[in-house]
Amino acid sequence: MTAGDQVDFISGATRLFAIVGHPIEQVRSPEMVTAELRRRGHDALLLPMHVLPEDFERALPALMTVANLDGLVFTVPFKQQAMSLADEIGPQARLVGALNALARRRDGRWHGEMFDGLGCVEAFQRRGLSFAGKRVMILGAGGAGSAIAVAIAFEGPAAIRIHDPAPGRADALAQKVRAAQPSLKVQAGNPELAGQDILVNASPVGMGGGEGMPIQVAALPPQLVVFDVVTKPARTPLLALAERCGCVTLSGPEMILGQVTRIVDHFGLSDRPETAPRGPAAAPGAR
Ligand code: NAD
Repeated sequence: MTAGDQVDFISGATRLFAIVGHPIEQVRSPEMVTAELRRRGHDALLLPMHVLPEDFERALPALMTVANLDGLVFTVPFKQQAMSLADEIGPQARLVGALNALARRRDGRWHGEMFDGLGCVEAFQRRGLSFAGKRVMILGAGGAGSAIAVAIAFEGPAAIRIHDPAPGRADALAQKVRAAQPSLKVQAGNPELAGQDILVNASPVGMGGGEGMPIQVAALPPQLVVFDVVTKPARTPLLALAERCGCVTLSGPEMILGQVTRIVDHFGLSDRPETAPRGPAAAPGAR
């Protein structure tokens, strides 16, 4: 055998993880989660799996019986549907009504949680920034906005205000957040910057290189911290304006990185690799 006869990143002992979505080509988890798994010293890989919506209910329970598959990540359009696969559901997923990671525990039970919002919290923490005591304005109450609002609600903010032009959406999310933290001041309404400490764009406005701005302003107060969930481009028109105004800015790719760390933690893979293999797979319950 020569070096050219084999690769060194996979063997029969490699543990498997997968991201399930439709479409799948755009996802970043295979390269980013695998990098984190290997940085932590684990012999493990995360693979892309393209599952068609009409095959989901048949394919997923079967996939979850594969004995060396320890965890799954879900992307569009499966984050809500994946809730039915979990034996246990974490607090964020329960409140948001969707999950994006399922981990097989040692007893064979599958534990689901939603990390979209926790990735945002992690991104702030990595920059030494906190939501505690801060007034937060969130633009967009869709999938990302819901997860972010719920995650921030657990970080002790002074108040959260939510705006979404789609009728009823901001109100519904405000109710969800109040259910999570009844003592927290949560309002739905027009975008407002006066008195706010943190502005979060959780809408897709600014995606794809357009000139769109989620809020129509010529300037932003320099003390405002501005986070934009959009990943492409990383420097959106909103972030470009915030930079010009002297604001601290955080970008969508930072939230992805934050999620990767939290998801690998959820998979139970610490910085100190385990020596013992996990137990045999249990069927994912009666579903
Ligand atoms: P979605 O369609 O579920 O929700 C988007 C919401 O934004 C809708 O409710 C819409 O009415 C609202 N909206 C549109 N224009 C607005 C405006 N000017 N002000 C306030 N709200 C407005 O979409 P989603 O899944 O929530 O995704 C939103 C963005 O977040 C996308 O660009 C997506 O790629 C990005 N995203 C990033 C990450 C990350 O880790 N960085 C994770 C998830 C999603």
